[in-house]
Amino acid sequence: MSDQLTCPLCNKQVPFTLVPHIRDDHSVDPLALRSQFPNQALHSAGFAEFVKSRSVSKRDGTLSFQLDVAGAPMTARYGVDHPLIPATDTTFVWTDPHRDLWGYRRVPGG
Ligand SMILES: [Zn+2]
Repeated sequence: MSDQLTCPLCNKQVPFTLVPHIRDDHSVDPLALRSQFPNQALHSAGFAEFVKSRSVSKRDGTLSFQLDVAGAPMTARYGVDHPLIPATDTTFVWTDPHRDLWGYRRVPGG
């Protein structure tokens, strides 16, 4: 199963989904393309299955999707964060054991 689609307007090979290409490169509404080319798939079968099985949705302009981590369902925001990576703690203070862990050495007198 190929995840490549061929744009019916320019014959360019596009991976996974034609929607951004049609909208951004041709300034065409993908739904208008669907009415002009009713047999043209807008998404590859693998991409469509991923979107469905991972409950991909767009919230506030960011794609969210479900993932399974050791049997626990979690939600990730694509390109923004990951449920297993904690948010930055701006109040965090590096301690000497942390510095040793990361290879920082105290400068004498520093
Ligand atoms: Zn095209």
